[in-house]
Amino acid sequence: MSFPWFKDFYQQIAHSPLSHWLEVLPAQLAEWQRQQLHGDFVKWLKLINLLPNTTVSSIELAEKVELGQASDIDERTRKQLIGLFKQFMPWRKGPFYIHGIHIDTEWRSDWKWDRVKPHIQSLKNRHVLDVGCGSGYHMWRVLAEDPQLVVGADPSQLFLMQFQAIKHFNPDPRIHLLPIGVEQLPDLKAFDTVFSMGVLYHRKSPIDFLYQLKNQLRKGGELVLETLVVEGDEQTVFMPHDRYAQMRNVWYLPSTRALTLWLERVGFSNIKVVDMALTTSEEQRKTQWMESLSLADFLDPDDSSRTIEGYPAPLRAVLIAER
Ligand code: SAH
Repeated sequence: MSFPWFKDFYQQIAHSPLSHWLEVLPAQLAEWQRQQLHGDFVKWLKLINLLPNTTVSSIELAEKVELGQASDIDERTRKQLIGLFKQFMPWRKGPFYIHGIHIDTEWRSDWKWDRVKPHIQSLKNRHVLDVGCGSGYHMWRVLAEDPQLVVGADPSQLFLMQFQAIKHFNPDPRIHLLPIGVEQLPDLKAFDTVFSMGVLYHRKSPIDFLYQLKNQLRKGGELVLETLVVEGDEQTVFMPHDRYAQMRNVWYLPSTRALTLWLERVGFSNIKVVDMALTTSEEQRKTQWMESLSLADFLDPDDSSRTIEGYPAPLRAVLIAER
């Protein structure tokens, strides 16, 4: 099985500020290819190869991720595409509109982008990293801003496949997803902007994580951090006993003041809390493309300000900071 995807990326960075990544990345990805742990992996790869080569008459990324129009394809192709896309379920991060097919994902990731975008520096000509990028939804929105390169790191194989399925309809050489975890990133110190959204609370060692993010940025580069927070002062950090809103693997939920202190201690400057929002069951919900339980099932049915475990309901903050 060969993957053209990563070779393209190596060429892309060979003459860029990221070239020293080539000292470790090819070996890491070769090892990843040898493992291919997920039972569905080969199936997904075949499905991607079955995607028809359609004529994509339009590309919209600034307002939404819309590739091609319904009128570009006939009814048979439309049915074929829906059938193929459905086999990549569950679709969690989106939405995507491909030739008029609305992949209505569990999350309205576009709402998060609307909360983030007004506050960040221009992405034009920048090298951009998205740590824990999921299916790559926000990377497509970054691409609309004309960056030099946007690369995502996310170890989920399903997300990689969903990303490649979308990229089939817009094979832009400036956008890439690498199936690696943040812990595999060397200290590149080269990105102009680093996003990490929805990841910090999954990290057992959030301070180490913040150092890892910092070490990807050039001096003066911008961190865009989005995470779950709680109300409270500089010394407030919440840790659930076990699950939080039914999510496993949730560790620390700091207050925004505590998180600001963490960022200061790690050496960031110009730290700003630019947005706070309660997650609603309009933003995260069950759809035809993600049919299992979602936020409404994870909140207390009698009191939506609490999770079913009795904790404060999900509240998310966006912070920006400079290296
Ligand atoms: N950034 C997206 C997705 C957040 S979901 C958004 O805001 O919508 C959290 C993501 O973190 C998942 O896609 C998961 O696969 C990824 N993740 C889990 N462990 C990781 C690790 N060690 N390094 C990087 N990403 C990781």
